[in-house]
This record gives sequence, C-alpha cells and structure tokens, in this order.
Amino acid sequence: AQLDTLDIIVLAVLLVGTVAYFTKGTYWGVVKDPYASSYAAANGNKPGKTRNIIEKMEESGKNCVVFYGSQTGTAEDYASRLAKEGKSRFGLETMVADLEDYDYENLDSFPEDKIAMFVLATYGEGEPTDNAVDFYEFISGEDVSFANGGDPPLENLKFVAFGLGNNTYEHYNSMVRNVTAALEKLGATRIGKAGEGDDGAGTMEEDFLAWKDPMWTDLAEKMGLEEREAVYEPVFGITEREDLTKESPEVYLGEPNKMHLEGTSKGPFNAHNPYIAPIAESKELFTVKDRNCLHMEIDVSGSNLSYTTGDHIAVWPTNAGKEVDRFLDVLGLTSKRDSVISVKALDPTAKVPFPTPTTYDAIARYHMEICAPVSRQFIATLAPFAPTEESKAEMAKLGSDKDYFHQKISNKYVNIAQALEDICGSAKWTDVPFSAFIEGLNKVQPRYYSISSSSLVQKQKISITAVVESMEVPGREDALKGVTTNYLLALKQKQHGDPNPDPHRLTYEITGPRNKYDGVHVPVHVRHSNFKLPSDPSKPIIMIGPGTGVAPFRAFVQERAAQAKGGEEVGKTMLFFGCRKSTEDFLYSDEWKQYQEDLGDKFQLITAFSREGPKKVYVQHRLEEHAKEVDELLKQKAYFYVCGDASQMAKAVTSTLGKIISEQRGIPESKAEDIVKGMRSANQYQEDVW
Ligand code: FAD
Repeated sequence: AQLDTLDIIVLAVLLVGTVAYFTKGTYWGVVKDPYASSYAAANGNKPGKTRNIIEKMEESGKNCVVFYGSQTGTAEDYASRLAKEGKSRFGLETMVADLEDYDYENLDSFPEDKIAMFVLATYGEGEPTDNAVDFYEFISGEDVSFANGGDPPLENLKFVAFGLGNNTYEHYNSMVRNVTAALEKLGATRIGKAGEGDDGAGTMEEDFLAWKDPMWTDLAEKMGLEEREAVYEPVFGITEREDLTKESPEVYLGEPNKMHLEGTSKGPFNAHNPYIAPIAESKELFTVKDRNCLHMEIDVSGSNLSYTTGDHIAVWPTNAGKEVDRFLDVLGLTSKRDSVISVKALDPTAKVPFPTPTTYDAIARYHMEICAPVSRQFIATLAPFAPTEESKAEMAKLGSDKDYFHQKISNKYVNIAQALEDICGSAKWTDVPFSAFIEGLNKVQPRYYSISSSSLVQKQKISITAVVESMEVPGREDALKGVTTNYLLALKQKQHGDPNPDPHRLTYEITGPRNKYDGVHVPVHVRHSNFKLPSDPSKPIIMIGPGTGVAPFRAFVQERAAQAKGGEEVGKTMLFFGCRKSTEDFLYSDEWKQYQEDLGDKFQLITAFSREGPKKVYVQHRLEEHAKEVDELLKQKAYFYVCGDASQMAKAVTSTLGKIISEQRGIPESKAEDIVKGMRSANQYQEDVW
C-alpha cells in the first residue's frame, strides 16, 4: 500500500526520535525553526533518499560537493554557480547539496581525493540559516564526535569556503568564520582563503567573483586539475510536451506543489508548502499620494498556522505581468508562453526548482526572480548565445569588465530582460537555452514581514505593515518596483473594488493559478523568531522603531494594552517612533491614542519627525533626550528593542545607548559598550532589523 504524507511524517518522526535517542541527541542539535524541521522530517528522510553524503557522491560518481546554507536563495545560487564552473572549467564531477539533506557524523570518511565546498550565509544575529542549523550545531558542538573516531577526525577533508554576510550587523559573516574554524580545529584543510561577501556594502556579487578566481587557481594546483575551454553544459533538460495543454489537469500553472495542484492542500504549511490565505482587510497608512504603506490582515483561521507576538510572516510574490511579458518577449517566447514543458535534471543530484510539467508563463510569473539585480557572471554565461556578433562582444565585455558592468547595468537598476533589451534592441535572444535561465536566475523567494499584531489579541489574524518599494531611476521610463510590495498593493486595490488593479501600469495575475487565489488571497507561511516580549508583562520595555520598524511594536503595545485592560500589571512601555512628517507617514497615529487610554501613564510614545523642524531629528536624538529615564529603566532590567533599518539606524541606536550609559553612570564609553554587549548576550537587547 502506498504511504500517505501523514504516514511518512509519523515514520520520520519515529525515526528521528529513535536516532536522537541512540545518539543522545549529539547531532540533532537544537532545532530553532519547527517549520523547517517538520519539512526535513517529512521530506528529508523519504525512504530511498540517503542522508549519507559520501554514499551519495560515490553512487553518482561525484568528486566535489558544494554545500549551501541559504535563507534568501543567494547562497544557493552561488553554490550552483560554483558547481557549474567546476564542471565546465575543470571537469570536476560536481554536485550541489542542501545542508539540511545530509548527516555529518561520517565526514571523517570523506575521501582525500574529493573536495567539499561550503557557501554559507549568516542570518540575523550571527545565526545559521534555517537549513544549516543542524549542521552548525553539530560541527561547532563541544562534544562533536564522528563515526570512526580518528584523531584528528577530519584530516582527510579538503574544503573551500565562502560566506555571505552584512557588515552592518554585529556578527559579520560569523557562519563562514565559525564553520571554517571548527573544520580546521577538527583537522580539515582549507584550500584558498575563506571568502566573505558583504551585502551591507552592496558588493556581494563582486566579492564572490573576486574570491573565486584565486580559489580555483589554488584548488587546481592542490588537486592537479587541468583547466579546459569552458563550454555551457545544461543541468536541466527541457522537453516540449505537445501531448499537453495548459488546460490539462496535470499541468502546473504556478501551483507550488502537488497538493495545491490537486486541490487537496493541507498543513503543515511552511517554506515548502505555503497557505493560500484570505486577506481579511487592507488599508493605506500614509496620507501622501506618492508613497504607500500597507496595513493588511491575513486570516489564518482556515489553517493550522500559529504565531506568537514578534514572529515573521513570509509572503510569496507573483511577478508583475508587465515584467513577465518583457522577459518572455526578449527570449522570443511570447507565442509559446502557454506551451507545456517538462523539465528534468540531467544530473541525478540536481533539483528542478519548480514542479513540472508547466508553462513558460508560469515559470516566469511564479517561480523565477526575473526582476532582481543582474549578475555579471550570468551575463558572461549568456554571451556566446547573444543574437549578433556585436552583442556577443558587448556581453563578453560586460562579463569581464567590472567597471563597465557597473556603469551599464548596476547603476541603472535594470533586471535581466531590461538588460538584454538594452544590449540588443529589438533582436530576440532565441539561441539561449532556457535551461540557462533556470540555472542562472534565483528561484522566487518569499519576503518576510515583522508581524504587527499580537497573538494574544488576534490569534487568527496576522497583521502586516509594509512600505511599497518604488524608486524612480534617472533616464529610465520604468521605476524600480519591489516585487512583493507592489503585488500586495494590487491585492489591496482589488479588495477595494477595483477589478483591474494596475498600480503604476503593472498588471498581476491576481486570481492566481486556475483562479485559486481569487477572492483576494495570498500565499504565506510563518517563521518563528526570537524577538520576544519579556514573559513577565510587568517588566519595563523600551522600543525603537522608526518607519515600518514600528511593526512588531504595534504588536507589543497592542498586547500590553490588552493585558492592562484585563487587569494585569503592566510595566513601563516606552516607544520611540520616527518618520518624515506627522501629517504624512505617522503610522497608526490614531491607534496610539486608544492604547494610551488603555495603558495610562505606563505607555509613553516619543516621536521624531525628521522633516518638520529646521534640523533633522531622528529616534536616536530623542533617545538621548530621554537619557536619564532610559538609564533608570535599564537599571530596572528593562528590555531594549530595535526594529527597522539595519544599515544606519540600528548602529546609531547602539552607539547612542552606549553613550547614554557612559554619561549617566559616569563610566568610560568602552565599559558602557561592554554593558550593551552583555545586554545582547543576555537577550535584554534584541534586534529585528533588515
Ligand atoms: P524587491 O523586489 O525584493 O526589491 C527590494 C530591493 O532590492 C529594491 O528596493 C532595490 O533596492 C533592490 N532591487 C530590486 N530589484 C533590483 C534591480 N533590478 N536592480 C537593482 N536593485 C534592485 N518590510 C516592511 O515593509 N515591513 C516589515 O515589517 C518588514 N519586516 C521584515 C522583517 C525581516 C526579518 C526581513 C528580513 C525583512 C523585512 N522587511 C519588512 C523587508 C521585506 O522583507 C522586503 O524586503 C521588502 O518589502 C521589499 O520587498 P519587495 O519584494 O517589494 O522588493
């Protein structure tokens, strides 16, 4: 008899439990994200799918594995680029591996003549990405032990490493640094430098490209590899399915998985299985015409999704019709947009990033990040397939000349289709194998939003506060439009009675695949976070949340107001909010009045309107003005929270707090900084920044 999903989950859970028991939990680690782990349990341990990487490499004839720890898809993309390059330039037999899919207690049997690559993103406060949690806990654990018990255990393991980080965060690239140190401590040999890409400086792609060339040279030398003329070898094979049309029931038109296709969608809902949630309510929060900030209420009562105050909701976007049209047009696929294709991995270790059979239209609309910034390496890959000799030369130049690329592509904020249009006028890029796009563009990623409601007050309705991304680009007709937020704006417009919402001439397939999202629905899941109120409501809290950074604090204050109304003792609740003008973008200005009534003098809202006075005033300035009170509260063990912009604001707030402590307590600034650091490690200082 066939096992259904529930059976598999139950078996997997039993298996996990048994293994955890016998290993005394040593390599299961602490699972931080129950959603990630429920998927791993349901899918990672499928019968017949090995979690033994050495066996997997052996049976598929691989000598190089590229592991990735990825949250937003960039690390995964870099991993597949390394795998492709290793194969095409050096004839390595490469495979890409999700860290979550394997166990690591046999890493000490990793053959000497093979190579492991690690592409590791650091997430939030120096944390591993969801899919790297178990690996990280294992490899960096105090009592890590391996199957063979050799000493040092990993002396045969050769590895290279690249990290993706953001220098505006406290723990810059800590994943790649800590994993490299852990592997070396266990006797493994690093080849080349461990690279570090910096998203904060906006140089991620260039850091990656600058790191990988010397790495390949070192690797080729150490492993005796010979470089050859790189030729494009597809990872995916595409078959046109003339036996099927877009009406055929087995054809995916954007449905995320089989259950969604068959209309039997059920939980657990997670990063691999979104819930198509009704939007109960939506409204505009700004009072100016040229900028938008959306408040939405997502109804999760029909699902088993749950959240606690401070969690994030992930929203799965749909690309704008205008951009889908442009993309298909530049590839010469407009007339074939509804043709059905099957996509198969030509290599048993590769994964097709979306379900098939499907259509070109559905792939571009629902599955690929066609609007994202263009990668220079991808331009170089496409060069040989350009439609004319001139465009081939231009593409090769763009691919190899960093400054030229910046001038022509990055500085114009174009997406891939716009770039190809610019390079070659009206000629279509029909020679590019479609597989190159599947490999070269990221798969669509959900965007996260700090939930702006309290789970105590509205358990079944998740609020979102999202500012709509829109930027005029000098010299271009089309503004740069954020993918998800403009889609949400269109949904809001539909909800308010416009049957053909068209924000800024973008059009969306708003009713979703086979009209499954009709009635204003959006695909979502919940991601749990560590950004939490103190469990004791009588503890004082200080919150710094300018702009949409106020989102989780609306939830915090909503929760405390309800607790106060319910007769509980609530501690001092101090909120610093900032925006441009009190009359334009003062989020939830009316609601605060109600909370003030409920909380009385326990609630204090301090505002900074940057464009109302002669001088710009920001939240950190207001914080400084309240130095004495803030310090008093900290002495009473107040929790201190910062949410919003990671690049400037969060840093400014940290240093202002150090200054306040130093001045108020008459201690040197260095000592005050240590106190702030201590607050962070004790979870008394929490950040939710992006
Ligand atoms: P995207 O399409 O992803 O574009 C985002 C940015 O990328 C653009 O503004 C631009 O700078 C750049 N970009 C895009 N395309 C190009 C291109 N072709 N060339 C060059 N540059 C380009 N946001 C909120 O409003 N409220 C919240 O509460 C909130 N909470 C968050 C919590 C967390 C934990 C995180 C990680 C993020 C949070 N965000 C929040 C941000 C949010 O997730 C999204 O990043 C944001 O809404 C933009 O998404 P988008 O799809 O509209 O824009």
